Amino acid sequence: MNDAVLSLREVRKSYREADGNRLDVIQVGQFELAAGDQIALVGSSGSGKSTLLNLIAGILLPDAGVVCVNGTDITQLPEAKRDRFRAGNIGYVFQSFNLLQGFTALENVRLGQMFGNGTGDAVELLKKVDLAHRLHHKPRALSVGEQQRVAIARALVNAPALVLADEPTGSLDAANGTAVLELLRQVCTEGRHTLLMVTHDPAVMRHFERVVRLEELR
Ligand code: ADP
Ligand code: MG
Repeated sequence: MNDAVLSLREVRKSYREADGNRLDVIQVGQFELAAGDQIALVGSSGSGKSTLLNLIAGILLPDAGVVCVNGTDITQLPEAKRDRFRAGNIGYVFQSFNLLQGFTALENVRLGQMFGNGTGDAVELLKKVDLAHRLHHKPRALSVGEQQRVAIARALVNAPALVLADEPTGSLDAANGTAVLELLRQVCTEGRHTLLMVTHDPAVMRHFERVVRLEELR
């Protein structure tokens, strides 16, 4: 194993469709990210971006290939260990936030923390994403931009080596989208977290020095 934070080798994933045929979605030959890398991975809608992130997070298993995060081939871990590994090593930010509606901003971040090593400081992170005044608000009482900032704090609270973001600005207007994007990049830079963001939005790509197209990975 080398010291790449993320390393993919010959990863294949297909889905079985209703008519019984297989739909080949992911074919990645080789792909690596090092500590502190920040890249935008782009592809059109339906090209397999979310599928690839779910393979990297160990939410989905590939049909073939190796997915190494911090030197661990997560495809070889049984499900419970994979879940625990994800909680401690990977932060995931979704387009639709996926916050628990019955819990406050602070509770949402603390819940994320509980599944990891528990060492992060939830209040400190919420301050960092400019939500010190919103700790005890539930998601419905927050703007969409604020909700996504809670989700960013939750994703970062266990200081994950790898941060995955699936079109995180897709539900936000342009101004909020830019703010969230720059915030996510800034906290990843400060903590030297590797950031892999998928998007189909040219306005998002322009924020990244490194842009990789999904089809280039074959
Ligand atoms: P993207 O995130 O780039 O829009 P997805 O990874 O969500 O793309 O989906 C890639 C392709 O796989 C699409 O054609 C989608 O319809 C199909 N797909 C996604 N999930 C499933 C599933 N669970 N079963 C069957 N097909 C799926
Ligand atoms: Mg998607």
